[in-house]
Amino acid sequence: MSVALRVLDDGAWVSVNDERRVSVSELWRVAGGSTPVCACACADFVVEGFTDVGVNGRTVTADVYGQCIRCGTDASVRAVPVGRVVDGEFRSLAAEAVRFSGGGLGAPATSQRLPVPGSVGED
Ligand SMILES: [Zn+2]
Repeated sequence: MSVALRVLDDGAWVSVNDERRVSVSELWRVAGGSTPVCACACADFVVEGFTDVGVNGRTVTADVYGQCIRCGTDASVRAVPVGRVVDGEFRSLAAEAVRFSGGGLGAPATSQRLPVPGSVGED
């Protein structure tokens, strides 16, 4: 199982297996992690660009820059989860998922089961 990850269009998109799957201008909830975005407990982070992509286990992550619209802090954040590889296919994270820099997700110990759209028979 492998996926091909790339940043395209000067950081505007994350491409997974040659499909544009994650774009800038999304609003992410980013909390804590190894490199906090800002002083907010949970940043409302608007993605302005991707600088790199990676994989942490089955979690696809991206290095991004953008701004917390809650407090106005500009920040670069490393290894923010953007999706999961499930059965060899990429699934985007739910918009309301809380993401932790460093590849973590806002799920309890059952981190194998995450809020991924389509994984509970609901589209
Ligand atoms: Zn903030």
